Amino acid sequence: MIRVAVTGAGGRMGKTLIEALSLSSEAELTVALERPDSSLIGVDSGELAGIGRNNVLLSSELTSLADQFDVLIDFTVPQATVANAAWCANHNKSLVVGTTGFTAQQRAEVESMGEQSALCIASNYATGVNLCFKLAEMAASVLGDEVDIEIIEAHHRHKVDAPSGTALSLGEAVAKPLGRDLREVAVYGREGQTGARERETIGFATVRGGDVVGDHTVLFAAEGERIEITHKASSRMAFARGAVRAAAWLGAKERGLFDMQDVLGLR
Ligand code: NAP
Repeated sequence: MIRVAVTGAGGRMGKTLIEALSLSSEAELTVALERPDSSLIGVDSGELAGIGRNNVLLSSELTSLADQFDVLIDFTVPQATVANAAWCANHNKSLVVGTTGFTAQQRAEVESMGEQSALCIASNYATGVNLCFKLAEMAASVLGDEVDIEIIEAHHRHKVDAPSGTALSLGEAVAKPLGRDLREVAVYGREGQTGARERETIGFATVRGGDVVGDHTVLFAAEGERIEITHKASSRMAFARGAVRAAAWLGAKERGLFDMQDVLGLR
C-alpha cells in the first residue's frame, strides 16, 4: 500500500482526494497538510472531507512527518507547489502535482525536481480528458491545415487562472502534430476589429460561472463540416481518482518526470 500525504487538504480538491484515498485499494492517506496559520490544524481530515473520522489530523509540519508517507499529492497554488517540489527532491519523496497556473519559470523549477525524485505533473488527471488529448492529437494530424481549430473551456466562478491548464494542454496536443508553436499561434479571446481569422492560429475562449466543474471542447471547423471533441467533468472525483492512480503508479519509481499519459499507458 502506497502511503500518501495530501497538501491543501482543506481545499476543494484536497477534500476530494481524501475521499478518493479512502476508496482506494492501492494507496492510503497517512498525512494531511494545511498552512501553519490555517484554522483547520488539528482537525480530523476524514470529518473535514465528510467521510467520517479517519484519525489523520491536519498538520502543517512536512519535515517531522517525512517518514510517514511515500508520495505527496499537491493541488494548491503555484508558489506552494514550487516549495513542495524542492522539499520532495531533497527528501527523496515522489510528488503528484495537480496545481495549475504556473509561470514558465515556476513550471521549469517544479519539473527539475524529476532529476532527483519521481514527479507526475498533469493539468488534468481525469482519465477521459487524457483520452481526449490523444483523440485531439489524432484529429489534428488527420485534418491538417484544412481546418480552423478553436478550444472552448468553462469552469466555476472561483477558478483563478485562465485559460485552464487543460485547455492549454489540448492546445499543445493539436499544435504538435501540425508543427506549430503554441506560444506563436495561440489567440486568447477576440474583441473589436480583429480582421479575418488566420488558418494557423489556435483560438481559446474562456467561460467562468456558477459551479461548473470543468468542460472542454476542441472544435475543428472546415468548409462544410465540423468536428467537436468534448469532455465534461461532473465531479472532482474524476480528477482525484486519477491523481490517486498516479500516486500508486509513481510509488515504485526512483526518479523521472511523468504525466498522466505515462500513467495510463497512452504514450
Ligand atoms: P482551493 O479549494 O482554493 O484549494 C487550494 C488549497 O491550497 C487550500 O487548501 C489552500 O489553503 C491551499 N493553499 C493556498 N495557498 C497556499 C500556500 N501558499 N501554501 C500552502 N497551501 C496553500 O482550490 P482547488 O479548487 O482545490 O484547486 C487547487 C488547484 O488544483 C488549482 O490550481 C486548480 O486549478 C487545480 N486543479 C487541478 C486539477 C487537475 O486535474 N490537475 C483538477 C482540479 C483543480 P487555504 O484555504 O488556507 O488558502
